Amino acid sequence: MNIQKFQLIYAHIICFKDDPSQVGDKALTDYKTGALIIDDKGKITWVGDKANLPNKYKQVPSTNFGKKYLMAGFIDTHLHYPQYRMLAAPAKNLMDWLNRFTFKEEALYGDIDHASQAAELFLDFLLAHGTTSAMAFSSVHKQAANCLFEATDKRNMAFITGKTMMDRNAPENILDDPEQGALDSQSLIDKWHGKGRQRYAITPRFAITSSDAQLKLSGQLYKNNPSCYLQTHLSESLEEINMVKDLFPKAKDYTDVYDHFGILGKNSFFGHGIHLSERECQALSASHSKVVHCPTSNMFLGSGLLNIEYLKNASNPVDVSLASDIGGGTNYSMLHTIGEAFKIASYNNVSLSAYQGFYMATLGNAKQLGLENEIGSIKVKNWADFIIIDPEATPVLAARQQLSESLEDALFALAILGDDRAIKATYIAGRCLHNS
Ligand SMILES: [Zn+2]
Repeated sequence: MNIQKFQLIYAHIICFKDDPSQVGDKALTDYKTGALIIDDKGKITWVGDKANLPNKYKQVPSTNFGKKYLMAGFIDTHLHYPQYRMLAAPAKNLMDWLNRFTFKEEALYGDIDHASQAAELFLDFLLAHGTTSAMAFSSVHKQAANCLFEATDKRNMAFITGKTMMDRNAPENILDDPEQGALDSQSLIDKWHGKGRQRYAITPRFAITSSDAQLKLSGQLYKNNPSCYLQTHLSESLEEINMVKDLFPKAKDYTDVYDHFGILGKNSFFGHGIHLSERECQALSASHSKVVHCPTSNMFLGSGLLNIEYLKNASNPVDVSLASDIGGGTNYSMLHTIGEAFKIASYNNVSLSAYQGFYMATLGNAKQLGLENEIGSIKVKNWADFIIIDPEATPVLAARQQLSESLEDALFALAILGDDRAIKATYIAGRCLHNS
């Protein structure tokens, strides 16, 4: 064995194998003196306690992170690349935010230089916050989506994006038309879907900005490319829901609009889903569609407070993933996102444990994407996409951790008090692409 083809990482390794809301503490393996072996392809070949490290790996070149935590990198299932710098835009509500700030910013992505520079910065921000994979909306411009794919492919990140389709109710300079939007999407699918670690998401922005003709073509694209994802928005604000009612008077409800055009399905991810009726939950559940919880965005725009238990425990349970929704969301950090999800759950008299939150942001999101055998956990044959977390990264965290009586307690403190300062290193396929 050529030891130079491997690398060995020592750390406190924390690894989810299952859903803690189903199996409790057994969901997690915790190697306080852990060791991880990565091969030259960037895959995990061994993980365990260093006392059990096989002899053949003992001379492999190593990096020692001591008592710092090593976890699977975070996965963000809903955010917007052309909004990478427009966090904290002070608006009255969703529609005001879109019209006053967002559409103007997204129009800049018609310039390829702007789009490619933005793609690099966007990915730098994700890696600095410990996010190793994401499903992101691009702008309406085909070339901007292409720029993002080039940047993610160069970094060998597992990434999902798609050109946004929108043909009405927005400024002229960010509209496409249904036929050209579908043709551009198909050509991006042909070029990028399945290339390296890249995957495509068919991306009609939402029912307000897509005509019947465009939604119909989106459904056809999805049918013709069944391994692609589909991402859009659903039931975010009450004002938006009323607009959808006016635009689609024959639909039973907002979800029925998408159902009618063939947009529901196991690879469909609906951002927000805050105000869903039982009937809508039933339709989403029956089609195995996913709702994406975006806590910081929902509070910032005053859209509403999603009740996760209502979706998960409804007579027809709906799958829920977790996301930042940058730039309606106010923080790239999935640590912060878990913390805000906890606060919203508390408001709804639901207890969201730290294990549940960390599970959702890693293996849970990977499972929702059907990628659990590639990313989301530290297991043999998965990609070595992981982060090093310092649980005592700030003076306040260090003081708080003196009171932590368990790993779960320490993780809870990180979710409430942590952010990018806690991320000491981010590895993609075994290569360190960020450290601080
Ligand atoms: Zn969004």
